[in-house]
This record gives sequence, structure tokens and C-alpha cells, in this order.
Amino acid sequence: MTIQWFPGHMAKARREITEKLKMIDVVFELVDARIPLASRNPMIDEIVSSKPRLVLLNKADMADPAITAEWERYFREKGIATLQIDSQSGKGVGSIASKARELVKDKIDKMIQKGMKPRAVRALILGIPNVGKSTLINRLAKKNIAKTGDRPGITKKQQWIKVGKELELLDTPGILWPKFEDQIIGLRLAATGAIKDELLDFQEIAVYVLKFLKERYPERLKERYKLESIPEDVIELFDEIGKKRGFLQGGGWVDYDKTAEIILRELRSEKLGRLTLEKPDDYE
Ligand code: GDP
Repeated sequence: MTIQWFPGHMAKARREITEKLKMIDVVFELVDARIPLASRNPMIDEIVSSKPRLVLLNKADMADPAITAEWERYFREKGIATLQIDSQSGKGVGSIASKARELVKDKIDKMIQKGMKPRAVRALILGIPNVGKSTLINRLAKKNIAKTGDRPGITKKQQWIKVGKELELLDTPGILWPKFEDQIIGLRLAATGAIKDELLDFQEIAVYVLKFLKERYPERLKERYKLESIPEDVIELFDEIGKKRGFLQGGGWVDYDKTAEIILRELRSEKLGRLTLEKPDDYE
């Protein structure tokens, strides 16, 4: 479901999350490992400043492992704990509970010192649409929890999902908006499929993707599209790929819509391999 984020929606989403934060000990901030900053909410630091946070680099199965390691270092240097996970297969998900416990150890120790009974750590999953919040909740719950819809403003009774003895999770995630006013960030979100395709200009995104591949993954581009060399001009490159794939219209013109669609589909389905669309250096 596409969300239209209006100022009113943003304020409401923020208010709802602030309410949920009162009930929990730790926030699991879910980001897409292929775009770890572009898939963050621009106000996240301010919104969750009161709680310890674990950044979960989800879809790590699709990201470039060497760059994921760079991102882990980036967050570590900022004092933010991370874990790489793949919510779809469950890889890495088993470490979440113990990592969460480490983050709130001091708080729990203090409670025990005061004579309170130790209890499970309570957590909230937060993230922008499509980063995999529902997939992760279902994975942790080991069953299918109905998706409540990516609509801020839908309220229902909060329930806790027990994850082993150590962790309890709110069954509805907190949904935040991405930083869509920034054009490059918008293109990165679009390239990974984080924005509904009906809203997109495929050709514009494909041109962005080709420029990116040419710079960061030229060998894969050559191999996938059987190119001997990569033309300097990105439109020529677009043309050549269309011709190689035989996407021609009447008069022998390349069908750009079809070519753009294939480039995006292949990027998203890992036909171009595991890749990451941004590095920490891009933000320096
Ligand atoms: P939500 O909007 O944040 O709740 O996102 P969803 O849980 O609906 O996931 C969005 C899409 O990403 C779905 O097609 C999921 O199957 C896919 N997905 C979620 N997590 C992963 C992951 O770790 N790896 C891969 N490859 N796909 C994932």
C-alpha cells in the first residue's frame, strides 16, 4: 500500500511512535542494507533519543557484503549497535534477542537490585515502508501476524509477541516516512523497490541505476549485458542494452520503457549480483 505522507500524517505517525516508546526498553530500527541511510527516517535520532537502539541491516542477503561491513563500522563509530539480518530466510535473526539484552543490561540490573523480578526485554520495530518490518515480526513470532496495513492512524489494541523467554515485541511496528524530498535518496529508494512502481518514472530511475553501475560495478554491467566496453554516454549505454536484448519498436528504435523495466527488475532480483547503492563515503 502506498502512503501519501502529508504533514498531518507525519505528525500523527510521530505521536503514535512516541506513545509506543513509553512501553518499551529498546528500539529495533530496520533499514535496508542496500541503502542504509537512504532508508532511514530523517528525524530518527531525535524521535528515539530516549531509548537504546539496535540498527538491523535487513535484506543483507541482497547487499554487497564488503560494503555492509563498512556500514557496520560507520554505525559502530557513532555508538550505534548493528546486526546484519535476512528476515526472509531468518539468517541473523536468532541473535537479535541477546543483542537487545546486552543493550538494556544496565537497566535490568538496576531493576533487579531494587528487588524487582527480572522480566523480558520489550522492543518495538521501527522503519520506513517496505524495509521488511512485517517479515521480521512474522519471523520472530514464528507465525503469520496479520499485516495491519502501512497506514499510519490505524489503531488497534497493542499485543506483545513473546520471542523466547528473553524478548517481547509489540505486534505492530512503528512506520516512519523516508527522506523523500532529497532527489538522490528518492532514486535510491525507487531503485530498490521501496516506492510503489506506479508512482515512478522508470526511465529516470534506470538512467540513475546505469550511471551507478557504470561507476561502481562496471564488470557486472559488462557481463550481464554482454558489452565489450561501456559507452561513456549513459544514454548510449541504455540504447546498447535495449538493442542487445532486442527491445525494439517499429523503425528499429529502442523501446526505452521496456529496457528500463528490465534493468530495474534485474537489479532488484539480484541478476546483477548482490550490490549496495550507497557507501558511508557518499555522505562525507
Ligand atoms: P514492511 O512494509 O516494512 O512491513 O515490509 P514487508 O515485510 O512487507 O517486506 C517488503 C518486501 O521485502 C517483501 O517482499 C518481503 O518479502 C521482502 N523482504 C523482507 N525482508 C527481506 C530480507 O531480509 N531479504 C529479502 N531478500 N527480502 C526481504
